[in-house]
Amino acid sequence: MLKLLFISTPVGSLGSGQGGGVELTVQNIAQELKQRGHLLEVVAPQGSILKGISVKNIEGNCQIAVQTQTRDVPICLPANSVLANMWEYARQVQHNYDLLVNFAFDWLPFYLTPFFDRPIAHFISMGSMTEATDEIMTEVALKYPDTIGVYTKSQAASFPFAETCHLLGSGLDLSLYDFCPQPKNCLAWVGRIAPEKALEDAVAASNLTGIPLKIFGKVQDKEYWQQIQRDFPQAPIDYVGFLNTEQLQKQLGQCSALLMTPRWLEAFGNVAIESLACGVPVIAYSRGGPAEIVLHGKTGFLVEPDSVTGLVAAINKIDQIDRACCRQQAESKYSLKALGDRFSDWFHKILRA
Ligand code: UDP
Repeated sequence: MLKLLFISTPVGSLGSGQGGGVELTVQNIAQELKQRGHLLEVVAPQGSILKGISVKNIEGNCQIAVQTQTRDVPICLPANSVLANMWEYARQVQHNYDLLVNFAFDWLPFYLTPFFDRPIAHFISMGSMTEATDEIMTEVALKYPDTIGVYTKSQAASFPFAETCHLLGSGLDLSLYDFCPQPKNCLAWVGRIAPEKALEDAVAASNLTGIPLKIFGKVQDKEYWQQIQRDFPQAPIDYVGFLNTEQLQKQLGQCSALLMTPRWLEAFGNVAIESLACGVPVIAYSRGGPAEIVLHGKTGFLVEPDSVTGLVAAINKIDQIDRACCRQQAESKYSLKALGDRFSDWFHKILRA
């Protein structure tokens, strides 16, 4: 039995959607490890909610999401920083735990690593973003081998310390996702509405094909979202909102395909495996995490990055995909058990070192 302290992302409370896929990842790993009998507490910004897990809520101001910044941005913390407050709490209680697990993509927890008595595992959820974070992560990777975990190979490859990264992938509580064999004539797009996700490409594809597009997710950049609506006034799109998992899977399952159009190097793309779990094929740009997930021609299509014509061509042949294969891929590769095994192995490896 391990005693684990998880320290969450400081960009928003768990359940708010601000943290993107890492919110679901924290929920899933915590749930699975608790179920295995490990003792576990999650530290997260005020207002956080996890299902069945005790959360220590910490007040303070959130970090600005790093993907909205330039590569040369200096380290920046607001007054009464929730990131600093969470790590101050972690410092005080560290001796009650065997291992601390950091889920923040921020400079501070890496910098603090040598000052803590307890070992720290760092799970990073994005590719290389800024010079300062790359630098401090590299130092930690060299000094504490194997303590940096990532989702995918292509994410790791964006860092100077690629070969020392521990590959963890992602996984889901598949019992929450129902297989839907018969779709309606509509497409889905799921994610944070922010420029790096290039929703406009999915809207353009929906506009060209005339097939309705359901959009699910948090509007992170209002101006960007309004611009898309101005640019495509006739597109058959329907913004549904940010839904909880139960509601999301119900509606997502009825769609004929998920469009994944990230402009950036998507580290994983939890939405891809959620979609597969519902039996919904994934059409994605062929780079980053989605390119490691989608089995081209079998559980979806990988298309030339940033090509709307490529999306349209894939949409037109979506009937070739057997939806049962999609669900089956989720079951064989992205179960909670598989995820729990990979994380336990990683934690034990760190603790043995
Ligand atoms: N999501 C959600 N409700 C919605 C839309 C999205 O809960 O209506 C969640 C989704 O389950 C996924 C996350 O938002 O876990 C998006 O994560 P992803 O890994 O795809 O991208 P990220 O935001 O981390 O870049």
